Order: sequence, then structure tokens, then C-alpha cells
Amino acid sequence: MERKQRVLIVEDEKNIVDILRFNLQKEGYDTLEAYDGVAGLDLALAEHPDLILLDLMLPKRNGFEVCRALREQGRATPVLILTAREAEQDKILGLDLGADDYITKPFSIRELMARVKANIRRAAMTPPPEPPAAEETLRFGRLEIHRGEGTAAKDGQDLELTPREFELLAHLAGHAGRVFTRQELMERVWNYERYVGDVRAVDVAIRRLREKLEDDPAQPRYILTRRGAGYYFQSDQ
Ligand code: CA
Repeated sequence: MERKQRVLIVEDEKNIVDILRFNLQKEGYDTLEAYDGVAGLDLALAEHPDLILLDLMLPKRNGFEVCRALREQGRATPVLILTAREAEQDKILGLDLGADDYITKPFSIRELMARVKANIRRAAMTPPPEPPAAEETLRFGRLEIHRGEGTAAKDGQDLELTPREFELLAHLAGHAGRVFTRQELMERVWNYERYVGDVRAVDVAIRRLREKLEDDPAQPRYILTRRGAGYYFQSDQ
């Protein structure tokens, strides 16, 4: 019998934990629970859950610290951040936490479950079969995208992209000139199916990517916005 997938809930508000546990178990997941950041990190490291739902404002160690510590230990477990306030959101936008996704409280259970599923599915997907050698590296002037290795470099310097940022860049650059809507990117890069909902995650990822990629993120040359349509990669520098 296939092992049930396990979701670790790190949240100090008991009523929210109850709601999450109930709905996750209804969908067939096993759950683990922690009510503070220290216990949450311990469980994440010891139990290898398939996904972590992580509140930010937690006793002992906050969610930011838990996420960072997890990544420093080399764990790639998908992390879905639960954020309560606009102020927290601002922090998320400004910080590269290594989280995979976030959802703002109060959230709809349907939306949350869609995100849990999508993030577990993405993490479970094996890398695509070896692309042909000739296409493994895309070169655009000073930029090199090594698809086999999942890395990109500009002027020979590694851009230190997160896996999501890399996928976004590789997808846009692999279809240079084609405009992708945020919806399309949510489906192709984030692997949501028929996504309807908040697409701001795309804007956040684009902004971070530009900060790492562009000489002047305010005047991008590689990743351009087509107003009212979406984003595209400009191959003529
Ligand atoms: Ca809290």
C-alpha cells in the first residue's frame, strides 16, 4: 500500500491547527503538528514530511528562522507559508526565505488544499528526461542558462537562483519572445492545474529574478513586462 503523504502543521493557534488537520485528513493526508518554531523545526528534520504549512508568528523561533534553518540543513521540503498580515507579506516579499509559496490568512480551505496538492506534486515530480545535449545550455550574450544543471550565470558569475526562479527563467528563455500570462506561468512553472486565484506569486518571483539577473532591475533587459498581458524573455540584448 502506498504510504500516505504527510503534512507538518507549524502553527500556534489551536483552532487553525484543528481546521487544517480536519481538512488535510479528509483529503487523505497524515498530519504532524507543532505549536512553536523549535518543535516545528525538530519535527521537520526528524520526520521528513512531504510538505510543511508554516505560520510566521510563532513562539520560540519564528517561521522565517525555521524556514531558513531548514534550508541551511539542505532540506528541500516544500514550505507553504501562512501569513496573517500585510506587514508579514511585505517581509516575505523582501526576504528570500527559501519558501515555496505563501497564502494569506484568512484563507479559503479550497485554495489552501489546491496549493498543498500542487506543491507536493511539484516536489515529487522527477526531473524531466535528459534534454538533447545541444540544447542543454542556452546562451544570450552575457547570460548562460545551464538547463541540465539548473544553474544560470551572467558574465561567468553564478546567479544563485532558487529552483523556482531558475525554472521561471529557463521557461521564459526557452520560449524567447513569447508572452506568458501570469496564469500560464502558474500552470507551467508552478504546476498548478487550471489555476484560478492569486497570481501575485508570479510578480514576486519575477521581481526577485530581475534583482539577480538584471543590471538595473528597474530597467530590465532580459525579463520584460507586456502591459496587460504578462512577461516575456527578450533575447536581443
Ligand atoms: Ca501565529
